[in-house]
Amino acid sequence: MNECNTEKLLSTYPLLYRNLREYGFQCGDGWFDLVFKTSAEIEAVSVREGTPKTSAEWPSVSCLKEKFGTLRVQFHHRVCDAVEAVVSTAYLKSMVVCELCGSHVPLQAQYDSKVQPKHSETLCGDCRKAAHF
Ligand SMILES: [Zn+2]
Repeated sequence: MNECNTEKLLSTYPLLYRNLREYGFQCGDGWFDLVFKTSAEIEAVSVREGTPKTSAEWPSVSCLKEKFGTLRVQFHHRVCDAVEAVVSTAYLKSMVVCELCGSHVPLQAQYDSKVQPKHSETLCGDCRKAAHF
């Protein structure tokens, strides 16, 4: 993710990403909105669950990356089921959002070998052409 988007996430959610500064967000900028909204939801859910907003208790993302065309978020410590549910939803949503430009990618296209010869990425038609030709 580019510097500008990385800084937006780090400055908006400093506690959530307190241990991610070195590694950054290992996915394309097309997923910025998804990551931003997911971060907001993780925080909202944590507040609702009564999690104290301290660096010992608040969720801490240890890894945020693209893997096999999907968004994966891992935490340092075990997080509550409600937070896990938010992360699972983000994982599903990432399957239909182009990782480079953020446009909608129909799920069907992902499994059509003619449209997508390489299954391990989520890109729209234009970005795929740009990436592979
Ligand atoms: Zn695209």
